[in-house]
Amino acid sequence: MKFFFPDSQDQVDPTFDFLSEERDPFRVRQRDDLYAHELLKPPPFNGLLVSKAIVDGTASSSTGKYTGPQRHRLYRQGAREFFRLDNGSAPLKIMGDCGAFSYVGEEHPPYTVEEVVSFYEGCGFDYGISVDHVIFQYEPNVLRTDEAAKEWVRRQQITLDLAAEFWQRCSASDVHFIPLGVAQGWSPESYAYSVKKLQLIGYRRIALGGMVPLKTKDILACLRAIDDAREPDTQLHLLGISRVDEIPTFASHGVTSFDSTSPFRQAFKDDRDNYYALDRTYVALRVPQVDGNAKLKARIRSGEISQGQAMQLERAALTLLREFDRGGVDVDAALEALVAYSAVWDRKADRASQYRDTLENRPWQACDCAICNKAGIETIIFRGAERNKRRGFHNLHVFGQRLRRQLGDDDRD
Ligand SMILES: [Zn+2]
Repeated sequence: MKFFFPDSQDQVDPTFDFLSEERDPFRVRQRDDLYAHELLKPPPFNGLLVSKAIVDGTASSSTGKYTGPQRHRLYRQGAREFFRLDNGSAPLKIMGDCGAFSYVGEEHPPYTVEEVVSFYEGCGFDYGISVDHVIFQYEPNVLRTDEAAKEWVRRQQITLDLAAEFWQRCSASDVHFIPLGVAQGWSPESYAYSVKKLQLIGYRRIALGGMVPLKTKDILACLRAIDDAREPDTQLHLLGISRVDEIPTFASHGVTSFDSTSPFRQAFKDDRDNYYALDRTYVALRVPQVDGNAKLKARIRSGEISQGQAMQLERAALTLLREFDRGGVDVDAALEALVAYSAVWDRKADRASQYRDTLENRPWQACDCAICNKAGIETIIFRGAERNKRRGFHNLHVFGQRLRRQLGDDDRD
């Protein structure tokens, strides 16, 4: 089972100083900042998933996360060198897709098959996913002949037509990447229909799209229906799915790979499951920068609180947390400082008991990953990109451990 991590140019700056919050003035971002696979051992994923929409943006939106120079460098150097795929303790694979969620509102996908093939080939990807159009709805009882299914059938047909063209172009120009066709559907039967059609085209690797919002039982219903259509040598990739407990079950239905950002994103997007441990999660300790917090800045502007007072509380919270980490003060002292600062920027949420739980368990001291070893308690402080991304990397590390435990092996090649 291979886990691919969707790239969004997430790196950390190893020169960042947590105490002064300054960077080395000579740091060069593209040279010095590190990817998760360069910091963690073993690398927490088997490869990266790179979307054309993230690299190039789309005509109607600026979802692109790459600057012009970054984009040119990727094309010029190729993905292996750009992502430094061989710099970790195990080499990584690279998979490309179009990032269909970024153009879900469009009538048609904004990219031609030719553009996409040359993107994958030009960057030297190992796997390339055909151009697709997402179907958002899940309506297991709607037949394809129903009026309600009209738009879904249209999108499915676009996806299949583009997959046929993609296959033909890949074969004709003898590309170096392995092509994957995309199955889109709104029900178990319609997904099975797509898989059947894709196999007729010639695909033996098929990515299942549009399943992100589905409940696990619905994904399993789709996989069971697909089983009836699937050739024994057809391998499935689940796009955007990370239900680690279900991975062995998914594997029994022909799933050999998946991708997800959620271990990383939960570090700073989730309300409570911010820091992974092997058997549970913890809430991160929120100490936002006075300058970086909109609610707090509004209160300062309105004169409710002085900037100096806010900064003093912020400073005290950080100091007490570090003291606590060193064993200098007890949980109550650290918690009190944390709660006192929270009161000025977040009067709604009362996280005191969750914070106490995090502090009492000290999970960052038990973690053996390179991030926690080096950054210690800073990893679990919710504050700024350098700490939050490090916590995301730590989560990827733990996710990799959970995955290997679920699979009962250390499956990487
Ligand atoms: Zn860690």
